[in-house]
Amino acid sequence: MNPTRPLKLAELNFTNRLKNACPHVFVRVACTPLLNPVLLHLNNDLLDRLNIDPYEKEKSSFLRFINGDLDFDGLFFGASVYSGHQFGYYVPRLGDGRAITLAEIKNNNDEYFELQLKGSGLTPYSRMGDGKAVVRSSIREYLGSAHLKALSIPTTEALTIIHGSDDVYRESVEKSAIVFRVAESFLRFGHFQYFFHTDQKEELKSLIDFTIATYFKNYTDHPNSYLLFFQDVVKKTAKLFAGWQSVGFCHGVLNTDNTSILGLTIDYGPFGFIDHFDLNHICNHSDHEGRYSFGNQPEIGMWNLEQLCIALQDYIPEADLKRTLDTYPQIFHVEYRRLLKNKLGLEKIIDGDEEFLRKLLGMLVATKIDYTQFFRALSHYQLTQSMPFLKSLELSEFLKIYDERIKFELTSKEDRASRMLAVNPKFILRNYLAQMAIETYLTDPKVLENLFLVLTHPFDEWEQFEEWSAPASTQYKNLSVSCSS
Ligand code: AMP
Ligand code: MG
Repeated sequence: MNPTRPLKLAELNFTNRLKNACPHVFVRVACTPLLNPVLLHLNNDLLDRLNIDPYEKEKSSFLRFINGDLDFDGLFFGASVYSGHQFGYYVPRLGDGRAITLAEIKNNNDEYFELQLKGSGLTPYSRMGDGKAVVRSSIREYLGSAHLKALSIPTTEALTIIHGSDDVYRESVEKSAIVFRVAESFLRFGHFQYFFHTDQKEELKSLIDFTIATYFKNYTDHPNSYLLFFQDVVKKTAKLFAGWQSVGFCHGVLNTDNTSILGLTIDYGPFGFIDHFDLNHICNHSDHEGRYSFGNQPEIGMWNLEQLCIALQDYIPEADLKRTLDTYPQIFHVEYRRLLKNKLGLEKIIDGDEEFLRKLLGMLVATKIDYTQFFRALSHYQLTQSMPFLKSLELSEFLKIYDERIKFELTSKEDRASRMLAVNPKFILRNYLAQMAIETYLTDPKVLENLFLVLTHPFDEWEQFEEWSAPASTQYKNLSVSCSS
């Protein structure tokens, strides 16, 4: 058999390493497929990476598969248990209340992908919820995860989004949807917290050992494997949060159950991108105290890691945990500065850079220039020497010191411009764009399709979609979004 041949659904080798190693993590559940499912969108690139034959998507069995309505040999259908700190308060049992893991598959490059349906019905962890997801927030997760991937920020992904005719009751009656989520792993800090706080020692050990052996392989046989694992989690978390800050992404609900052990962006809810640089921006309408404001995110990464430390305390000496945790601010700082300097086209390290970056952020706050547009314009500025923004004193003063700083760079302006255009997106998933796709998915599905295309290639010019690069009109700026989903 040609090992690189794309596979039919029935040929996929469904496994589930987590379930096999840690059966206590999952309970078996049954999916509740949507009524009259309709495919809204499919991520062809991801289908290809999963090594699934593109002809499969034309078959009715494909729709049944992504609706949780088809059982192949090896499919598992499980909901996992976890706990977590929600807005700082420990909730002893959460778990997959509306997400069902189907299985794990391996592609030709020996990469594993966990397959999960979100919105596919009740599980033992649904608590007061209905196990369903609405089209509105599903479109946001579908677009958001593909977009972050395109911005090179680690994230879970989504293969498909379908909608159904079933009603879902939120503030008003809405329509149901299922997002077919894909990730190397959906393990969260909360999984480790659950087994620690319920004193299930063996189960916790097998989960930690499995996580290291599977996702942190390099450390498996090392005498200090637990510590090396934790060091890596700290590093991945710090880098993820730095990535978010650099593109202006605000997650909205950074509870420990929404924090991935692999440093992926996970559980897209009332997330948003800042319009102008505002550390106080709160994207989640229900976050009254601003715990998860844009500017608080980096510190929350540290806070969540502290909770993980508690769950790992039987495996790593306290002093080592503390020392490792203390590396977080520095790793974050170095990575964030690196990303900001990339955005500015600066390669050299110069005395005074720190002060220069402070001035940049100060200028962005003072002028309220659109964050994304500013960096895109600065990329073009390399060649044009002109900036399209309002005549602002702060901006022109900043450009003066920027021009001085650029003199230390050894690269040509052409090279700088092209590097900057490759890291400063022209398009960002602004709330009003997501809203546009949500309002037109039935009447004009082309909008979702085009938006997906643009947001997965956000560094391209896309002249025909120029208007989508614009900031929201004043009334929609730095909006917060409802948490109900
Ligand atoms: P979140 O903050 O959205 O990640 O969700 C927190 C917890 O609530 C998780 O255990 C979810 O599985 C659960 N949950 C959220 N929405 C629903 C729903 N509609 N039905 C069942 N469980 C839900
Ligand atoms: Mg969650």
